Amino acid sequence: MALETALSPESLLDHTQRIELEHGRVRKAERWGPRTLDIDLMLFGDAVINTERLIVPHYDMLNRAFMLLPLCEIAPDACLPDGRLLKTILDTLDSSTIRRWHTRSA
Ligand code: AMP
Repeated sequence: MALETALSPESLLDHTQRIELEHGRVRKAERWGPRTLDIDLMLFGDAVINTERLIVPHYDMLNRAFMLLPLCEIAPDACLPDGRLLKTILDTLDSSTIRRWHTRSA
């Protein structure tokens, strides 16, 4: 999802981590294990952030079609802070195995 916020990037991360915990996420040492919910900050405007807690643009999004595909769906003109169009990067990745998850409507 895309949102507008007056929060700082680290405050937004505080909120997303709280939401993960509220959905039953247990933080384990194992980094890429199964989890109930994982919220990543992919972009924060055109900010470049590299702190202990936060790397933006997300450190591996350029290699992950499952991250770039939905981002480009909601923001087809989205660019990296250096001006590269994400859609162009997505076109270099294999997204053939990515399927839309259909949820039942209420
Ligand atoms: P993960 O287990 O993949 O959810 O990684 C969570 C850790 O990555 C957290 O401790 C965050 O501080 C850190 N992190 C660094 N950059 C980001 C980012 N762009 N979005 C979310 N978490 C991040």
